[in-house]
Amino acid sequence: MSENSFISIRNGTIASVIAGAILLVVPVLRGSAVSFLSWAWSGVAWCWKKLIASYSLPGWAWLLMFIFALIGLINIYLAIQGDTEEPEFKSYVEDFMHGAKWRWSWVGNKISNVWCFCPTCDATLVYDDSSCRNFRSNVSRTDFICENCSNRVVASIRGGDKDYATGAVKREIDRRIRTGEYKMQ
Ligand SMILES: [Zn+2]
Repeated sequence: MSENSFISIRNGTIASVIAGAILLVVPVLRGSAVSFLSWAWSGVAWCWKKLIASYSLPGWAWLLMFIFALIGLINIYLAIQGDTEEPEFKSYVEDFMHGAKWRWSWVGNKISNVWCFCPTCDATLVYDDSSCRNFRSNVSRTDFICENCSNRVVASIRGGDKDYATGAVKREIDRRIRTGEYKMQ
């Protein structure tokens, strides 16, 4: 027997042994794989059944839960709305006082930028409180003048200078809010 044919017989034998081993193992592996998969699947199926059994509810129970959830959501919505809703008086930002139209804005709960405008032409009025610094004058007052209406004195607030006059207007705004009078305008 030549060396070459010996090698080919040896290779053939080794190949046959390996092939035989593989053929022997494959059905075993396949069997294990199938049994593992079927076991895993039965586990999943069991879990699913349990899940359905534990949480499946009749229609009326679902409806009840839906209603409770809706009530909860509405409550949360109202709570948020209640916190963010502005008080009603915050929409009160102009009124007639002392013959002029006064406008202001709200910063928090405080009146800010209060000033007066001409009721005829809506021009911004200019003030004259020189009487407060005139020692010969026995009346201190602040006049509010419309330059657009031939320098007509539109409003006159007695008692003090410009700051006093705007303070008096703020106090009047507060009074009208307290009494609810502002809602009737
Ligand atoms: Zn005017």
